[in-house]
Amino acid sequence: MTEKLYRLDTYIKEFSADVLSCRQDGKKFEVILDRTAFFPEGGGQPGDRGYIGEAKVLDTVEKDGEITHICDREVSGKCECRLDWDFRFGNMQQHTGEHIFSGFIHRITGLDNVGFHMGENEVTVDFNGAITEEQLIEAEERANRAIYENIEIEEIYPSDSELSSYDYRSKKEIYGQVRLIKIEGADLCACCGTHTKRTGEVGIIKVVSFMNYKQGLRITLRIGHKALLDYREKNNSVAMISASLCAKTGEVADAVEKLKEKQKETAYRSVEIKRELFALKCAEVTEEFPVVFDGSGNADDARELAVILSDKTGTAYAFSGNDENGYKYAVVSVSEDVRETGKKINAALSGRGGGKPECVMGSVSAKKEEIIKFFKQ
Ligand SMILES: [Zn+2]
Repeated sequence: MTEKLYRLDTYIKEFSADVLSCRQDGKKFEVILDRTAFFPEGGGQPGDRGYIGEAKVLDTVEKDGEITHICDREVSGKCECRLDWDFRFGNMQQHTGEHIFSGFIHRITGLDNVGFHMGENEVTVDFNGAITEEQLIEAEERANRAIYENIEIEEIYPSDSELSSYDYRSKKEIYGQVRLIKIEGADLCACCGTHTKRTGEVGIIKVVSFMNYKQGLRITLRIGHKALLDYREKNNSVAMISASLCAKTGEVADAVEKLKEKQKETAYRSVEIKRELFALKCAEVTEEFPVVFDGSGNADDARELAVILSDKTGTAYAFSGNDENGYKYAVVSVSEDVRETGKKINAALSGRGGGKPECVMGSVSAKKEEIIKFFKQ
């Protein structure tokens, strides 16, 4: 049985150990040591990474009751081992932060944390009931005050008889020795993970979003250094928006709303102007030669133009585009079946498309001159 150094001291970053076994499994090696500070995945906390000698530890898991280090190469004998401390300390911040936050949610609402996941950048916690926004803010506020107070985090190993006297949170039924993590005034929870010594090391706990999940609420948190990275990224975004809109950082949301309103007006006005333009274009077209051109290259514009013109000429032909990229076309008629006409256009002008008796649409790769010549014939 491997000696669990992370149980003696969660701050051990380097240690030496003997390799008890190293078993190849595909391209990876499963290494078991006589002692280890690598925490195996469990209780929502990912397994540790780092080095055993020259071998990279990709993950640590508990397999058949043994702490198994998943390595990228074979190792043997006595090895110097080193944790990826940034990764582990980040996990300790996340884990401890989750205790503090869940503890206050429990105190404020009576609800329990029924799901916990530590992602690469954030932590999600699921609670088994509804939580108001005010309660979320209160929990966030009190959790951060508990950080400022730098409270000691205690480990308690109660006997079976003592255990019944504790009112503690627990995510699942526990067999054997229970380990309680106590944060005075904030939380008491059964847990097997790694935690910081004091709450101050957690740094900050921030609720970034929440959503209804099953019968309750899923809350996404940013904790510790990951919260700083998030703040940095968001601050940069807000600063960029602020500069580009010439608005104060605290007023960017209002500025964006105003911009959206303005954009709506502009879009509305541009539709009006387009209609006027199309009417003018169609006014110039004679019944003898009912073909109209437009430069946008938009199929809907071609159709709209043909519809307007067909009011005047019965059957109308509209082309939208340019010589370089080709033209979208529409043939619209209020008096005849235009499908045959569409086929002729496709054949003569290297085009494709089709439609209904009263309207065909498509595209051609011919030049304007060729299109005009085709209709003159
Ligand atoms: Zn824990």
